[in-house]
Amino acid sequence: MQRHADVREREEAYDAIVVGAGFAGLYMLHRLRGLDLKARVFEAGDGVGGTWYWNRYPGARCDIESMEYSYQFSEELQQEREWTERYSAQPEILRYLNHVADRFDLRRDIELGVRVAAAHFDETSGKWSVETNQGRKSSARWLVMATGCLSQPNRPAIDGLERFEGAVYHTGTWPHEGVDFTGQRVAIIGTGSSALQSIPVIAAEAGQLYVFQRTATYSVPARNAPLDPEVQRRVKADYKGFRARSNAEWGAAYFNANPAPALSASADERQAIYDERWEIGGLQFIGSFADLLVSKEANDTAGDYLRRRIREVVKDPATAELLSPQQVFACKRPCFDTDYFETFNRPNVTLLDAKTYPIEEFTVAGLRTAQASYAFDSLILATGFDAMTGSLLAVDIRGRGGESLNQAWAAGPRTYLGLSVAGFPNLFIVSGPGSPSVLTNMVPSIEQHVNWIADCIGDVRAKGLGLIEATVPAQDAWVDRVNAIAETTLYPTCNSWYLGANVPGKPRVFMPHIGFPPYVAKCNEVVANGYEGFKLSPAPAEPALADA
Ligand code: FAD
Ligand code: NAP
Repeated sequence: MQRHADVREREEAYDAIVVGAGFAGLYMLHRLRGLDLKARVFEAGDGVGGTWYWNRYPGARCDIESMEYSYQFSEELQQEREWTERYSAQPEILRYLNHVADRFDLRRDIELGVRVAAAHFDETSGKWSVETNQGRKSSARWLVMATGCLSQPNRPAIDGLERFEGAVYHTGTWPHEGVDFTGQRVAIIGTGSSALQSIPVIAAEAGQLYVFQRTATYSVPARNAPLDPEVQRRVKADYKGFRARSNAEWGAAYFNANPAPALSASADERQAIYDERWEIGGLQFIGSFADLLVSKEANDTAGDYLRRRIREVVKDPATAELLSPQQVFACKRPCFDTDYFETFNRPNVTLLDAKTYPIEEFTVAGLRTAQASYAFDSLILATGFDAMTGSLLAVDIRGRGGESLNQAWAAGPRTYLGLSVAGFPNLFIVSGPGSPSVLTNMVPSIEQHVNWIADCIGDVRAKGLGLIEATVPAQDAWVDRVNAIAETTLYPTCNSWYLGANVPGKPRVFMPHIGFPPYVAKCNEVVANGYEGFKLSPAPAEPALADA
């Protein structure tokens, strides 16, 4: 027994440990406090905010509208908040999350600048033993991974980056002091959401901007503007009703989903609906018709419309052609931009085809493709993230029998409800693979997960029990369900990060569960049926202190 006592003395003991202090970790801490649990948050960054702490590239902002891209757990908080723009810019969201940390007195239980390196389940104590990269150890009955779906930067596997003598930036780890590109020759690799937001801003500053595009991107104008006080007043008059309407939508945001299929409309009717939603801007374009992601023929009508819009804006026909996406619309995450396509009319912006002529290597002065060499002062990697699994698998997580999460997920992530993994008791993932997460407005998805986890912990404790874990059959059935839903759609038809296709060697599995309302219904049903698909058991007895 001596050994147990020593270990407990060395380790800091908590009821719950949360990893990450973004939207998910902050609210999780608040809910754990409400259960009277002694909780600790470890955050690798030197500030709270997660995504909005790290992604400070020029033009960074949300593309879900501000009135929705915010917490709904506190009526006072959402009533007090005065958003200034239709889509908030990164500094405003970061200020909001810092305000939340202060308003709910969260900081005293958050440790910043601490990266969790390992988390091992100890079957003797029924607790998680957590180790930081500085070698500090702590233990907790409950472990919540709030490490983010888009927090592990993906760097391209291109030879020789260390040779390049200029400055290198990744959009997901942007310098806090900002970067002045005035007059510089700048190269950006990637044309996903981060690139689309930053390219117009950087182009206005740089002397020359080279854009290396591998896959052209569909984009609809965001139509950002100062937020109309009247809109804000109307939403606040019934914020609950507004949230309920959004939560009833497939993506937990106001898509204003049209239940009619595109193929049942005449060409003129389709055009009118696309025109109307193009003018509104943003998300509602995806809600134009019900069959856009299940029928290729329907999808082509949206693709044709968006390609025509590009040709209308971009003056050089060859550039317009290269900017025109050919994959299924919304199969990769669509973007919402401000003057993205217009930027390619600037004389200082050059679009380069990195699909036909892949980047072969970086050089001292720049890079070389199969076609030519380019020299520049600064390089921006807008190359995205090892999404959904990257931040989890970066931690050495070991469950029962010492099995690592890396082993358990060798052929792709397997979860029950995207919340829990068989063989890893009392470990919860917020917006994990197998949950709607990245296919939704993530703040309500995060809140739904945090509420489910906190209620679950409360229920397990109320029953006098201490352990809950997913069963293998329930997990297998869940994985089958997630795959089966995806197979009924066009989502698996392109090389998206939803499938892990952006990271060389990553198993190709469609990770998110499509559809927020049926997902929430299933989570609620699982609880109503006494945590169906989970095994609940007592925690192992604590060793008697007198023996020590
Ligand atoms: P994060 O905000 O990613 O926070 C996770 C935190 O965990 C990070 O701070 C990280 O440092 C920390 N962490 C990770 N591993 C460890 C470790 N081992 N030890 C300690 N700490 C660790 N979603 C939308 O719905 N709408 C949008 O408009 C939108 N815009 C986005 C714009 C950008 C540029 C990006 C990158 C993402 C965007 N997203 C958007 C998705 C966004 O990630 C989520 O909306 C949300 O912010 C995620 O919150 P989170 O707390 O789950 O994760
Ligand atoms: P991303 O969508 O994954 O885009 C990465 C880009 O880099 C792609 O164009 C990709 O091309 C390219 N790329 C990667 N490796 C390359 C290589 N070796 N050579 C050439 N090109 C390469 O990443 P992101 O733009 O950072 O966005 C990630 C997600 O974060 C978004 O989908 C969204 O969910 C979220 N986000 C949201 C917003 C917002 O508007 N609110 C802003 C930023 C991010 P391929 O397509 O060919 O792989």
